[in-house]
Amino acid sequence: MGWRARKDVSFPLRPYLEKKGIEFIAEAVKEIDPAKNIVITESGASVPYNFLIIATGPHLAFDEIIGLGPQANTVSVCTVDHAEDAYEKYKKFLEDPGPVIIGAAQGASCFGPAYEFAFMLDSDLRKRRIRKKIPMTFVTPEPYIGHLGLAGVGDSKGLLEHEFRERHIGWHTNTKLKKIEKDKMLVESVGEGEKEMPFKFAMLIPAFKGVDAVSSAQGLTNPRGFVMVDEFQRSKKYANIYAVGVCIAIPPVEQTPVPVGVPKTGYMIESMVAASVRNIKDAIDGKPPTAKATWNAVCLADMGDTGIAFAALPQIPPRNVTWAKKGRWVHLLKAAFEKYFIRKMKKGVTEPFYEKMIFDYLKIKKLEKG
Ligand SMILES: Cc1cc2nc3c(=O)[nH]c(=O)nc-3n(C[C@H](O)[C@H](O)[C@H](O)COP(=O)(O)OP(=O)(O)OC[C@H]3O[C@@H](n4cnc5c(N)ncnc54)[C@H](O)[C@@H]3O)c2cc1C
Repeated sequence: MGWRARKDVSFPLRPYLEKKGIEFIAEAVKEIDPAKNIVITESGASVPYNFLIIATGPHLAFDEIIGLGPQANTVSVCTVDHAEDAYEKYKKFLEDPGPVIIGAAQGASCFGPAYEFAFMLDSDLRKRRIRKKIPMTFVTPEPYIGHLGLAGVGDSKGLLEHEFRERHIGWHTNTKLKKIEKDKMLVESVGEGEKEMPFKFAMLIPAFKGVDAVSSAQGLTNPRGFVMVDEFQRSKKYANIYAVGVCIAIPPVEQTPVPVGVPKTGYMIESMVAASVRNIKDAIDGKPPTAKATWNAVCLADMGDTGIAFAALPQIPPRNVTWAKKGRWVHLLKAAFEKYFIRKMKKGVTEPFYEKMIFDYLKIKKLEKG
């Protein structure tokens, strides 16, 4: 929406890593050779390792649907480059507005940002007093609104459907994208068949895959290129390779008519990192691994003028706790968290004591007991 600039949400990593004695090589890894314990970078440099932590996130699979993605007919907010490009296209759209489509492709595993984008866009258009000119529709493979790839979190279905109704945002669930042209897309909903939907501006989250450098390593990944890990975050094949975040394989929580994946959210990823670090330390000390990540999820969804906070402990059902609440405080808290998180990363303190105290009080932990 142009509410933040690149400088507000990013910073150069090198000085902060070097301050901690961490060498930083700003180059992509081209290949991993687990037999020789080396990674080879784009320039051909060979970097040896005793332990490797893979945290390469997603390959954005726009190419799986004709016309999807910022190089074609829809915008994306999955990277800062994409978000900047989306904002430029949004400014052009405002000069000659029309129907908007927001949502996610079949096989997507990241729905939160699609909902956030729909609500933020609605808020922005209302502030500009032009919302009345713009029909908005949400298109998703989820079996119902608020499924989120997680079979819902608390009453996420009720909360998000209510919000869509309040904001006059229509929706199609159980829907696949078939083909996207410049100003119309062909979609197919289970039980309803194909329909053509006109649009002037569309933001659709693609399905994710593993990145090539990782999926090309022998025996490391599943067919989608996600690293197969055990309960200690270790590769099932190579005990000195760990993987955390979006790049790991997690099976869907349930079978759905149109495939949806499981999201890997920030706090859950931090719990994977905490377990990996503890287990690597133990391996260095010659001890077997014991640390298991809780995979708890705590998320703040910003909706432009209000927001919904979710907690799913653990993220994959059945859960001990599920909770979702709406309020303007969430919108304010997310903006504050953004600043807090960046400050924390710059300081190199991943979990200040006051943060730990708050999470302890809420009984939200990164590591399983014992
Ligand atoms: C738009 C969006 C919004 C999100 N918002 C939230 C939210 O509000 N709350 C929440 O909990 N979760 C959110 N998520 C989900 C999740 O927390 C994020 O996706 C998170 O950034 C994932 O972290 P990651 O480290 O696994 O991957 P990433 O953050 O994607 O990091 C992967 C890194 O690896 C690098 N890389 C890739 N390939 C190579 C290679 N070959 N060599 C070297 N480096 C490589 C990439 O450049 C990137 O820097 C969001 C996701 C998206 C897409």
